[in-house]
Amino acid sequence: MNPLIRFIPAFLVRFFASPYVAGDSLEKAMGVVKKLKADRGLLSTLDLLAEDIRNEVQAQQNLDTYLSMVDAVAQSGLPLEAWPTLSLKPSSYTTSPLQLGGDAAGSREAMMKIAARAAEKGVALSIDMESRHWTDFTLETLRLMHAQGMTHVGAVLQTRLHRTEKDLDALPKGLRVRLVIGIYREPSDVALTDKPAMKERLLAFAETLLKRGHYVEFATHDDTYVRRFLEQVVPRCGVGTDRYEVQMLYGVPRDRFLADLRRQGIKARLYVPFALSWDMAIQYLRRRLDEYPAMVWLVTKNMFSRR
Ligand SMILES: Cc1cc2nc3c(=O)[nH]c(=O)nc-3n(C[C@H](O)[C@H](O)[C@H](O)COP(=O)(O)OP(=O)(O)OC[C@H]3O[C@@H](n4cnc5c(N)ncnc54)[C@H](O)[C@@H]3O)c2cc1C
Repeated sequence: MNPLIRFIPAFLVRFFASPYVAGDSLEKAMGVVKKLKADRGLLSTLDLLAEDIRNEVQAQQNLDTYLSMVDAVAQSGLPLEAWPTLSLKPSSYTTSPLQLGGDAAGSREAMMKIAARAAEKGVALSIDMESRHWTDFTLETLRLMHAQGMTHVGAVLQTRLHRTEKDLDALPKGLRVRLVIGIYREPSDVALTDKPAMKERLLAFAETLLKRGHYVEFATHDDTYVRRFLEQVVPRCGVGTDRYEVQMLYGVPRDRFLADLRRQGIKARLYVPFALSWDMAIQYLRRRLDEYPAMVWLVTKNMFSRR
């Protein structure tokens, strides 16, 4: 991570990265989900920002909040096809994170509970992919879930990791897969460091997945690659719009492009994070600013132009 972003004080991170967050309560986030659907025809995947867990109380709160999120979706009054999915991170439920040499105690059990409640209510989940320390654990959790019939749980695969090509061969049948380049900087012995190469893999892996019968969530803000996916990969695979969607992050300015996709009848979904505690949101927000430092200037410019 850029040292400037790493050491910028938390209150400034929160200020500059605020456009990426849908609010400080589940109610506000559900309000955003409904508005995105009503005003722009966009679907959502709802995420609680819950990283850097320091004690069991926080881990339990995250589990309880996700169970409430399942209930909130089921009681939202939205038509079934507009229900948001939920995205969750394995590290949110453990005080023993794998990247610090821990054993992820409690994480899998918590995700199983959320997946069971979601199955009961008919809500779809996606398990986000964190740094390389979590890849085996996350894929194994998905395999266990699918072996138990929890086919409503989808995965995220990062094209920057070299291992992903092999991981494609061991996915549960029909698994829903979000393809991303990956946000965690990984060492060059395990990952690509060149962005265009990561994006070429987005196309190649999307083609493999579609041809093998998976549902593909093509997640990038790079319009050129979205177009190449739609104009080259999809026709080569001969699949309809029921087999894929395009995903972007809430707060990234892509309004016109998304409207254009909607006009073509292509499903588009935004990743909509909300925070109950800003402490637990800071790591997500730092990564966003690291990825796109220009946000600092955009927010500053907007602030002055409002005056
Ligand atoms: C729906 C969704 C879910 C994701 N889930 C995961 C996950 O589980 N695990 C994981 O490792 N990564 C995840 N990511 C992040 C992803 O891996 C990339 O880091 C991120 O999408 C940026 O890469 P890009 O493909 O958009 O390409 P980039 O080249 O980074 O972006 C293309 C263009 O989009 C604009 N842009 C990109 N990011 C921003 C931003 N933050 N603010 C403003 N403009 C921006 C810029 O103009 C940039 O030139 C997710 C991304 C999305 C969209």
